[in-house]
Amino acid sequence: MDGAVTPAKAEPGTEPPLSGAPIPMRTCLGCRRRDARSSLLRLVAEVTRPSPATVAVKPDPGRRLPGRGAWIHPTTVCLDQAVRRRAVGRALRLTVGVNLDEVRDHIEMQEAGAGSGDEHGRPAG
Ligand SMILES: [Zn+2]
Repeated sequence: MDGAVTPAKAEPGTEPPLSGAPIPMRTCLGCRRRDARSSLLRLVAEVTRPSPATVAVKPDPGRRLPGRGAWIHPTTVCLDQAVRRRAVGRALRLTVGVNLDEVRDHIEMQEAGAGSGDEHGRPAG
């Protein structure tokens, strides 16, 4: 399917402020497709202890949390693919297990709320 393969290197999160630049693109950890950054969800690792056994990964829809970020389509399909390949931990340079509960919650809520006008999925509690 894909003809030209360009070697994509993971860059540190520095972007030159370009005015009138094309839409910034990012690669989804799940399906490995490049897409506009605005249609991807940023993930960041929250390291709270020096050597945790598991690092909680959080969704960062506002793209303002500090630290290394990873990008994924906000769909459970892409999340599952990323989990299977352990792409999240690798993208975030984590050597321990990752806890994606918050990310999954966020995505599932978005998927439940998108498309239908029903409001039967109110968060309880
Ligand atoms: Zn994807």
